[in-house]
Amino acid sequence: MISMMALDLGDRRVLIREDLNAPITSGRVVSDKRLVAALPTLRAALEQGARVMVLSHLGRPKEGVFDASLSLAPVARRLAEFLEREVPLARDWLDGVSVEPGAIVLCENVRFEVGEKANDERLSRRMAALCDVFVMDAFGTAHRAQASTTGVARFAPVACAGPLLAAELDALGEALRDPRRPLAAIVGGAKVSTKLEVLKSLADQVDELILGGGIANTVIAASGRNVGRSLAEHGLVDFAADLLRGKFGGASIPLPTDVVCAERLAPDARGRLKALEDVGGDEMILDIGPETAARFAERLASAGTIVWNGPLGVFEHPEFAGGTRRIAEAVADSAAFSIAGGGDTLAAIEQFGVGDRISYISTGGGAFLEFLEGRRLPAVAALEARDDGIGRGG
Ligand code: AMP
Repeated sequence: MISMMALDLGDRRVLIREDLNAPITSGRVVSDKRLVAALPTLRAALEQGARVMVLSHLGRPKEGVFDASLSLAPVARRLAEFLEREVPLARDWLDGVSVEPGAIVLCENVRFEVGEKANDERLSRRMAALCDVFVMDAFGTAHRAQASTTGVARFAPVACAGPLLAAELDALGEALRDPRRPLAAIVGGAKVSTKLEVLKSLADQVDELILGGGIANTVIAASGRNVGRSLAEHGLVDFAADLLRGKFGGASIPLPTDVVCAERLAPDARGRLKALEDVGGDEMILDIGPETAARFAERLASAGTIVWNGPLGVFEHPEFAGGTRRIAEAVADSAAFSIAGGGDTLAAIEQFGVGDRISYISTGGGAFLEFLEGRRLPAVAALEARDDGIGRGG
């Protein structure tokens, strides 16, 4: 894979795919995280005197229909503040973008274009025709084979990896290819069904598989215990039993011994600490208890590498945030190489103020999970397929 940093970008038309899909409220970007992550790449290209064109998606518009509420205009304004320069937004960019050396233009939401999702070849070729160099830097969308993430990489004169994408792949590679052991994975969140594959794959790779949230509830149910009205996927109890039995690999899977329950999840709900055995039929398990959290934390303290995706309870509610907080602190305190990813995980890390003590925070949710599953990310495969060299006439 060619790295953007190895290329001379001066005066060249450089099309950079970023993931600037930021939450927007009343025309303002409310979380800068993804923009901030893209800044070093954009600055590096601008400093070289490139003619920078940036592509990104925002939300899920219907292709072929302009929707002002999903315009990247607020992102352009915020980027301009960060970069301290004008960042014009090009609405009809596919017909050609005019940009001076050392200047930047943001192209309007790429998902307005017909054929983006289907990775349409004609659209990919039109994108490729805009540039001398295509830079794939959007790790967060690297798991999607779409025109702006993979198709364009086939047809651009040169296609390379941006520094953010490269850093993400390096960090994940360090955590999983040849990890310092013991390797511990923490997988929480709502549903087993969305993390089935990742659980299978991790069971075979890691030494400790620490579970929380609805995922843990399903595994607890599979161990024959009562989970009452907890969020659990009873249709996946057989899968969870196989996981516990070691069918997919030898990871040790510690179960909670105490949990925090409530009868309903309302703003005024109060948590009740219970032994796992005492959960009542009309109760919901909403967090791991302190004894369990301490036991999990102890395992994390001696880990060589930690991978974390998903909260261990309903951390958005103060009554059920204790377990996720304790685990966040344990990850931060550990000397392990630690890597965390996923929207809720990042929100929890921010909420508990531990971000600067985690080795690497990934910008990818779905892409992060797919990497953990051991799948080849389509955008990375597209760049690797261009390793025959500089390619078409560039
Ligand atoms: P996910 O998107 O699958 O990572 O799930 C994240 C969501 O799972 C968060 O909003 C949590 O509040 C929720 N969650 C975590 N633990 C539980 C639980 N025990 N019961 C219900 N929801 C949970």
